[in-house]
Amino acid sequence: MPASPTLPRPLYDIHISPFPEGADAELRYVVEAGTRSFVVTQPVRVLIEALSESSDPVRVRRSLLEETGVAMSDGELVGAIARLPRALFVESEHTQDNGLLFVPMPILKQAWVAWLATRLQHAYDRRFLIAVALLAAVALPLCFQEMAAPRVLTGVSPLASATLLLALAVSALGHELGHAAACARFGVPPGHIGFGLYVIFPVFYADVTRAWRLAPARRVIVDLGGLYFQTILLLLAAPLFLAGFASEAMYLFFFYNAGAMLHNLSPVFKLDGYWLLADLARIPNLHRRTFAYILHLLHIQRLGADQLQPRLNLILLGYGILVAAYFFYLGAYIPGWLSSHVAPGLVDGAGNFSHALERFAAGAWLDAFGSATKGLLVVLAVGLPILLGLLWVARLAISAFRIFTERKQSPFFP
Ligand SMILES: [Zn+2]
Repeated sequence: MPASPTLPRPLYDIHISPFPEGADAELRYVVEAGTRSFVVTQPVRVLIEALSESSDPVRVRRSLLEETGVAMSDGELVGAIARLPRALFVESEHTQDNGLLFVPMPILKQAWVAWLATRLQHAYDRRFLIAVALLAAVALPLCFQEMAAPRVLTGVSPLASATLLLALAVSALGHELGHAAACARFGVPPGHIGFGLYVIFPVFYADVTRAWRLAPARRVIVDLGGLYFQTILLLLAAPLFLAGFASEAMYLFFFYNAGAMLHNLSPVFKLDGYWLLADLARIPNLHRRTFAYILHLLHIQRLGADQLQPRLNLILLGYGILVAAYFFYLGAYIPGWLSSHVAPGLVDGAGNFSHALERFAAGAWLDAFGSATKGLLVVLAVGLPILLGLLWVARLAISAFRIFTERKQSPFFP
């Protein structure tokens, strides 16, 4: 008789809670391990809990049988465990599932973020929210008017550029604290704040994995928290901007922030807009499911009847079309952008604002740093959207492949 296998034990900091609301009626659970979280079915939850209590296969098999009615041999048990996410067993502090976020580096550790977030959570008090909304309704249109005014950028001094970069870093950090403060507001501990590369864009990020414990309506607030805090920062800077203080640098500060906020709201990549849409529509794994549904529509990989619901299908289809439109727009925009920069004069600017945008993208404000930087920026501006599009498609293909192979291997998986 072969010796009984010793089963792996999950990490100590695993936290399991009911998944507040999935798109379907079946009861699901959120399993949090380190900085990652997974939505699992009831049998998988029982397996993970049994493993947390014992590494003895006899006891684990008994728990499974008692709580789920599933009888397994040792071999089947080992097979089922092998298909559990590895992050359950391996410390995965640096491999969080942020899609295209590479080399994440913590810069504010969890304790500091918790301390700051506890103090900043009062920004979500009703009175404060109303005050911000009223101020924003008055001041932001004035700022946008100021931004749209005809303006020829003459270049920012190195000192002003450095100050601007610092101010932009502060606003990006403020954005992340907005997410963390919303978590704190709802009694969920925020994780660390870090810095990494989203594809090759340098970005700050906040680990708000535990927001999965919240109901979707509250997750929506967490999703919007970053933009809310960014709005507060813009309101603080608005008097300086409107008074004409350091007008060119202030213009770029507003311009960059407005651009970053809009970019963040786009649901194409896994930025705030993606999570917002996923939480509003109550569909976890929106990217993966959309791709699976598109494959289904193309008759490449049919989904089962239980995975097809009219409301869900409509959202997935709408989302798929939106993503396609986005890349179609990029494809149409890039040649025009190229011709206006590589052979200027071929395409006229569509107005002052878009002209300013082009000058900004062409690195006008970096003139002080020399043309080498400018050249690099132009290359990045052309290459990045293409690279992003390719990576996005590749990633979708990989996740779709994974979901199908998982599903084929194991009816045990969600
Ligand atoms: Zn954000």
